[in-house]
Amino acid sequence: MRAFALAALLATAAAPAPSGFDMVVLGARGGIEDGNLSSYLIRPQGDPRGVTCDAGTLVQGLRVAEAKGAFKDVRVSAGEELSRVGYVLKHDIKGYLISHPHLDHLSGLIIASPDDAAKPIYALPSVNAEIARSYFRPGPWSNFTDRGAEPRLGKYHVVDLKPGTPTPLAGTTMTVTPFPLAHGGMESTAFLLEHDRDAMLCFGDTGPDAVEHADKLQRVWSAVAGRVRAKQLKAIVIEVSFANDRPDDKLFGHLTPRHLLGELHKLEALAGKGSLKDLPIIIGHIKYALSGTQPQAQILSELGAGNDMGVRFHIAEQGQRWRF
Ligand SMILES: [Zn+2]
Ligand SMILES: [Zn+2]
Repeated sequence: MRAFALAALLATAAAPAPSGFDMVVLGARGGIEDGNLSSYLIRPQGDPRGVTCDAGTLVQGLRVAEAKGAFKDVRVSAGEELSRVGYVLKHDIKGYLISHPHLDHLSGLIIASPDDAAKPIYALPSVNAEIARSYFRPGPWSNFTDRGAEPRLGKYHVVDLKPGTPTPLAGTTMTVTPFPLAHGGMESTAFLLEHDRDAMLCFGDTGPDAVEHADKLQRVWSAVAGRVRAKQLKAIVIEVSFANDRPDDKLFGHLTPRHLLGELHKLEALAGKGSLKDLPIIIGHIKYALSGTQPQAQILSELGAGNDMGVRFHIAEQGQRWRF
């Protein structure tokens, strides 16, 4: 018995620490489907402490994920009165990365704020300024942050991120580096999350550079090309809001399959032919269509038709858990 215990201990000691990321999709769609809006809980594998990339849907996303078994390994401390949903919200989510101030990217955070725990909100200065101006302010809701109009409740510590500069995410072992994006006249953000040598990208809404008359995506690709070549970039979470039949003058700062493929080809050109092979690309923010015909299958098929890079396209679904 003792020998067995020792062998088990040695096996544990010899096992390499898990690498890569663990992601739970809390919200997968773009507006208008309330209850399933952009939000991804991202953590290093084997470590429950993480942040969300956007927070369009929060508690409802945790509930769906819990029902699908995504949190079955969460151990709620003895004596703790919280459910697993409550425990993950208050103890494991250590902060929020907000890509831009559109409501479908932070409505879940606003609604959960009265019962949430104190934690930071990380965003570019323009995004934090708009959140203070439009949402967390006295009036129909309260200012739960430490920024903006009085009275300030101070539950959320607002942190301004600096473009291209890594910032440690308090309470986690990750850092985040933000890159500004062009989103139909509004500044949005791509977040590069890093842990040890591993990295992943989570994009807020973005238009294609050609349509936005910008070089924002090109700058992101330049910044990560070396990590792609070194196989350190583990995944990309990015939006495709519409299928290819959407005309460029009706994109309103969003991507279609054709435009995403064009952008990924630019990354491949920088990182080297074949360098994107097997890279998981998780597609979010598909707009719910009131016509009744949802475009998911069409979008996946259009992405597949132009995929000569060998990337792995997946449509994000609420409650899914990914490890990459
Ligand atoms: Zn959006
Ligand atoms: Zn938006």
